[in-house]
Amino acid sequence: MKIEFAKPPAEELSDQPAPPRKAAKIGLEAVSKRKSALIIDDNNSIHAGESQSLPIFMSAFKTLGYDVKLEKSNETIYTTWKGYDIVVWSCSDDYSAVNTTKYMQMLIEYVDKGGRILLESGNVAAWAEEYGETALNRMFRETVLHSTGDWVYHDVGDLKLKTNHPIATTPNALPETIGFTPTDPGDDSGNANAVRILTDATGIYNWSSVAYEGTLVKDSIAKKSYGLIAYDSKEKNGGRIVYFAFDIDDIDSPDIQQKLIQNSVNWLGNGIKVSGLGMNIRLCSLPKPPERVFPKDIDPKRLQLIIMLAQKWVNGTVLHYCFLDQPAEYVGADEQKKVVRDGFNKWKQLGIGIKFEEVANPGDAQIRIGFLRGDGTWSAVGRDLFSVGPNERTMNFGWDLITEDPRGVDTPTHEIGHALGFPHEHQNPKAGIVWNEDAVYDWATRTQGWKKEDTDRNIISKIVPDEVEGSTWDPDSIMHYAFAAGLINEPEQYRNGLTPAGGLSERDITWVRTFYPPLDPTTSTDLTVNTPVPLSLGSGEQRDFTFVPDETRTYNFATEGESDTVMVLFEEKNNKRNQLAANDDSAENFNSHTSWGLTKGNKYVISIRLYHEWVKGDTTVKVW
Ligand SMILES: [Zn+2]
Repeated sequence: MKIEFAKPPAEELSDQPAPPRKAAKIGLEAVSKRKSALIIDDNNSIHAGESQSLPIFMSAFKTLGYDVKLEKSNETIYTTWKGYDIVVWSCSDDYSAVNTTKYMQMLIEYVDKGGRILLESGNVAAWAEEYGETALNRMFRETVLHSTGDWVYHDVGDLKLKTNHPIATTPNALPETIGFTPTDPGDDSGNANAVRILTDATGIYNWSSVAYEGTLVKDSIAKKSYGLIAYDSKEKNGGRIVYFAFDIDDIDSPDIQQKLIQNSVNWLGNGIKVSGLGMNIRLCSLPKPPERVFPKDIDPKRLQLIIMLAQKWVNGTVLHYCFLDQPAEYVGADEQKKVVRDGFNKWKQLGIGIKFEEVANPGDAQIRIGFLRGDGTWSAVGRDLFSVGPNERTMNFGWDLITEDPRGVDTPTHEIGHALGFPHEHQNPKAGIVWNEDAVYDWATRTQGWKKEDTDRNIISKIVPDEVEGSTWDPDSIMHYAFAAGLINEPEQYRNGLTPAGGLSERDITWVRTFYPPLDPTTSTDLTVNTPVPLSLGSGEQRDFTFVPDETRTYNFATEGESDTVMVLFEEKNNKRNQLAANDDSAENFNSHTSWGLTKGNKYVISIRLYHEWVKGDTTVKVW
């Protein structure tokens, strides 16, 4: 339908023509958007002063019409990277490039999610090879650098074209030889690496010569040691990486520097959508603790303290673990079991009083381990595992510990820490963490699929610590999660995220040795028949008693008094303890009582841990 516009009165118009009409304004969507580049400066200036590379990148991107944002590596928040058309991680000649767990995790995940990045570092491959013994280092080397674990040489000549590739030709035809002069030449140079690469990457330029201590390396090695490397994930996730294994400012010609950057940017392409950053964060999710019956009038804080202490084992206890061999979906592959055994070894190596022994029969094991995929990774905490059904799992690993977990052995080490009775360190009220709670709930739902109660139980709720383990906060504890940026409001320095150093921290070691010190037979007290001995213990403390029977018969050991204790009976031969009985599983019956047939003249040790005494100093132990 044609609209008939009303007309003004005809007598109001003159007979003169109006001046030419102005052009219509351009709609907002028609304005071409400027492209944006993020340049991350990871030069901590240890080796050779300020980065000379940044001005070169800035100038190249400005010439290409980009808006350039510059950030320091310790300030950048990787979930913002997807907002840029291109990301450059520049280490220049920094000797210890990409040197934190957090940086490696950010780069691994960005690449894993199909991100495109230009990485510049004259030494990261050598650094990763020389110091790369952890699973995370290896993952970084293989998924970001695409370098082998072979030796990396530093003493190189000029860049020589090896493989025809768009980075060498489009839009600028680069020369066969690119002159290169290290600022600081030789075998310790941070200016260049000769990198051997995995088969999924392309070496575009290698080096005209590669030497060590003034001697050329064999031609066969030099030929496959590259300086300019490209990786294209193709259909896998669309990700691409250009890796300059040199300091860009040591390329002789400023014109070639700019052209090389332009070609690299051209090949990397623009506007790649990276989604789901943060999705491969793997968090342990503890199950609900069992409920115990306590007097109604007890102070809730005190109750929480008692429950937590009650999770600790009697020192000297032998904890048997087994890998479940049925049902089929619980069964783990041998290499997965190996990572878990490595986790047990991390604790064993500390020489603590708790022993771990692997057994085949689930009926003999307190710790029963499954590998049910998609069921999360978790463990019962300490003696809580007695509330788990006799053939059920007390520990589960719900993802591949090798291919899906950058934390590697740290994950089983953390779960075994729970089995030893240790809670999550980030729930320590001494941490003084003030959460951005809405962001934490959102993050946990998005990355873990958790409900609010799961997030409360594993992150938000504070745990009442006892004096020993709660006196300080340890953000590097094996029992501490890593947190993304924006989740912690206070302390302020963790607003950009918190990543524990990895492995057992100094305080983890001190802490476990406090609760479970190496066994010391000289500190035990002799027991004699029908003579009660006061325990004289504080909450959480343990005492060992020695008993040598003068006849072979059944003996009874018991604690008396209004208290909550746990008792373990050992036979001691040749300074080795063999565990006979533990009355650990009677959580409702607070006093301990054990009967056992003992042999005349043999030596027995009775270890008692006091969890709580309702009347101070009232508890005794007796044998009859
Ligand atoms: Zn945990």
